[in-house]
Amino acid sequence: MRGSLLVDNIGELVTNDIGGEGGPLGIRRHAAVLVEDGQVAWVGPARDAPAADRRIDAEGGAVLPGFVDSHAHLVFAGDRAAEFAARMAGEPYTGGGIRTTVGATRAASDDELRATVRRLRGEAMRQGTTTIEIKSGYGLTVADEARSLRIAAEFTEDTTFLGAHVVPAEYADRPDDYVGMVCGPMLAAAAPYARWIDVFCERGAFDVDHARAILACGQAVGLGVRVHANQLGPGPGVQLGVELGAASVDHCTHLTDADVDALASTGTTWVSGFELTTVATLLPGAEFSTRSPYPDARRLLDAGATVALATDCNPGSSYTSSMPFCIALAVREMRMTPAEAVWAATAGGAAALRRTDVGRLARGARADLVILDAPSHLHLAYRPGVPLIRQVLHNGVPQCRP
Ligand SMILES: [Zn+2]
Repeated sequence: MRGSLLVDNIGELVTNDIGGEGGPLGIRRHAAVLVEDGQVAWVGPARDAPAADRRIDAEGGAVLPGFVDSHAHLVFAGDRAAEFAARMAGEPYTGGGIRTTVGATRAASDDELRATVRRLRGEAMRQGTTTIEIKSGYGLTVADEARSLRIAAEFTEDTTFLGAHVVPAEYADRPDDYVGMVCGPMLAAAAPYARWIDVFCERGAFDVDHARAILACGQAVGLGVRVHANQLGPGPGVQLGVELGAASVDHCTHLTDADVDALASTGTTWVSGFELTTVATLLPGAEFSTRSPYPDARRLLDAGATVALATDCNPGSSYTSSMPFCIALAVREMRMTPAEAVWAATAGGAAALRRTDVGRLARGARADLVILDAPSHLHLAYRPGVPLIRQVLHNGVPQCRP
């Protein structure tokens, strides 16, 4: 959309600009935002706002950076509602159901997979998510992983190769051979469509030696590292991620003091820089949907680790695309303050993707923002389950209502 656009009559503007006043969220009042060419061109007091071609009246609502969902599995077919019902009736979650989705995904056409990603991407956008990472991991053959990433790349820049999600059934008795295939032909076919590589490092999935080998192969061809770690029990995944300089270790549900210290030692992005910080990305939708204990966000924050929140949207263990829902869970169940949770869902997610163009509202940032039907960011946790997202701008373009 051409021309300039002014968003004004903002009740509370969350900038995440830590250089200014207004606490860690960089909150400004009586502010306005000018958008030009898909970027934030100006932020300042409404009374000083420059003239613009068009105007959006925020009607006193809060304006926040669009949410950055740094962990989602959107390329799949079928659903696992029956598995969810069984779990709610008392069966434990083991991760074994991933193979059910692998079978359905392999059987689906490109257009069926694309339609699912489009539907979920749209669903997330309407709930304020303007940046989303999308993983492969339900193909688990050379061709199926490559096409999953090719389709994902139609919807996001942040695509992640997760050929090491589980060992598929046909390799169940020879995991070494599967790891060799992931590092060889599968990586070669996937890498042109991927920015990141990820491994499910967990008992029943990939052990630490296999995980290290796979991540190192990905690094060697220029992919950034992320790890699914310490979800179902304590383990070496977090330490491995820190050792390899991962952008993020995700789940972090079962951490030892040494794990927390390792994450804290990588510091915060504004002190250590993006290239050194390993973010702890917490995925409370997974604990909600598997009726499991939540990660201890307070312990990580108090130790000085950088924390992000993401949905883990997938058909098995967390079938939600809602960042506001995750914010509410983080505040209620994980002892985060509303401000910490909003930061983690915006700037934290950006840090987990090592991006400086999103997750904040300052001159030069991408014009991704949400306007709430509420006067403050506090309402995202205070009014759980309520559709508070009135408008979303993505690249400066209104998504909900013209
Ligand atoms: Zn995941």
